[in-house]
Amino acid sequence: MEHPLAGGAGAGVLARPAEECPIPWDEVVGDDEPAPVRGGGWVPYVNLDNAATTPALRSVTDAVAAFLPLYSSVHRGTGYKSRASTAAYEGARRVVGDFVGADPERDAVVFGRHTTDAINLLAGSLALAPDAMVLTTQLEHHSNDLPWRARARGRVVAVAARPDGTLDTDDLDRLLARHAGRVALLAVTGASNVTGVVPPIHDLAARVHAAGGRILVDAAQLAAHRPIDMGPHDDPGHLDFVALSGHKAYAPFGTGALIGRRDAFLPRPHLPGGGTVRAVTADDVVWADLPDREEGGSPNVVGAVALAAAVSRLAGAGLDRIARHDQALAAYAQDRLARIPGVRLFGPCGDGGAACKVGVVPFTLDGLDPGVVAAVLGYEHGIGVRSGCFCAQPYIAHLLDLTPAYVINAGSAGGVPGMVRLSFGAYTTTSDIDLAVDAVAELATPAGRASATATYIQGPDGTWAPS
Ligand code: PMP
Repeated sequence: MEHPLAGGAGAGVLARPAEECPIPWDEVVGDDEPAPVRGGGWVPYVNLDNAATTPALRSVTDAVAAFLPLYSSVHRGTGYKSRASTAAYEGARRVVGDFVGADPERDAVVFGRHTTDAINLLAGSLALAPDAMVLTTQLEHHSNDLPWRARARGRVVAVAARPDGTLDTDDLDRLLARHAGRVALLAVTGASNVTGVVPPIHDLAARVHAAGGRILVDAAQLAAHRPIDMGPHDDPGHLDFVALSGHKAYAPFGTGALIGRRDAFLPRPHLPGGGTVRAVTADDVVWADLPDREEGGSPNVVGAVALAAAVSRLAGAGLDRIARHDQALAAYAQDRLARIPGVRLFGPCGDGGAACKVGVVPFTLDGLDPGVVAAVLGYEHGIGVRSGCFCAQPYIAHLLDLTPAYVINAGSAGGVPGMVRLSFGAYTTTSDIDLAVDAVAELATPAGRASATATYIQGPDGTWAPS
């Protein structure tokens, strides 16, 4: 299948309708990239899978291109380019810290690969008493669950979700009372990648601080969608730690960050190696201060520059504006999907439901595997979405009412079915959503179902494709 632009055809042939967004569509790298559709032809690609990863912004790739001629080793070189690269890297650290309202004196910004890395870093380096409890929640992505199980085996308890997928804060209070004096940390998502639910993180922080614990916010889904302000350290609602990923915030260059209080880290690094020390002899080591101590190995300077450029662009667009855009899109998508026979929505829906969410809309279509729905959208309409359990199986099991035994058996045998997820970016338009909803409506008809069932088969890796 030949790419239409390979033959010199103009990208304008596939132009999208103009609609005002916090970040205009033409700032997205790949804005004119078409997608092939089954049966022949090409359509403008519509990306409704932003919760998995966002495309790069032009301002980000421009910043990377401008920096690359100066790229060199950081921290250890005296050459001009090393000094320039070190300045760029340390400048990016300040930009990322400011973006989340970190205290430059009392918080460290540690760069890593992504949110999973940042949370594992904290799980490896947080000072914990031997009997300390860690609370996670039923809403968590596996990346904010499994590192804590590994670190505090047998002392991790998940705060329950309510039937609508929101966090049960009464259960948090019960757990804080039951384990009084022992809860060291609440590790909670800033926004769910399954339902988009945004827990009240500052209120949760105040509850946990009152019980003597601290809070980590997994901001993988929050950073590009809502303003984050860690707040002053002496404020009860202060956020102690924030973890985020560049590739979910328009900077897909392999960098994420952990931002948080310097005084909570162990005096030794989670990843010992080059760059983490002040002095080494055959018998002794003097570890470096933060953040160097936790950045073992050569850092990803390009990724840090990209992340700083991305968060600067997001701040310029206005995170409050992006949050309103997200809510309007989520409300619109939920309202339209709810009218399709056989569609079941998850998470807070109906009037006001979208107000406590980022732009993530999960659903199922009765009688069709979510993988088939996603395949039809992808192969026949050029719309990218995600289906499955989104690395959040305990939460999916709660929402779909699946037993642990079912999850273990189905997962071992090839996969837990899960849901279909539409997820939006700051450049997503209502016409993007119309295309997806119209495609689901067509699929929900008897003819659409019969054609999909006859056409799609599941491969050995669990994904569906036309036979
Ligand atoms: N937490 C949440 C809520 C997520 O959505 C994701 C990614 N889907 C992660 C953590 C892990 O992010 P990463 O893959 O960038 O490490």
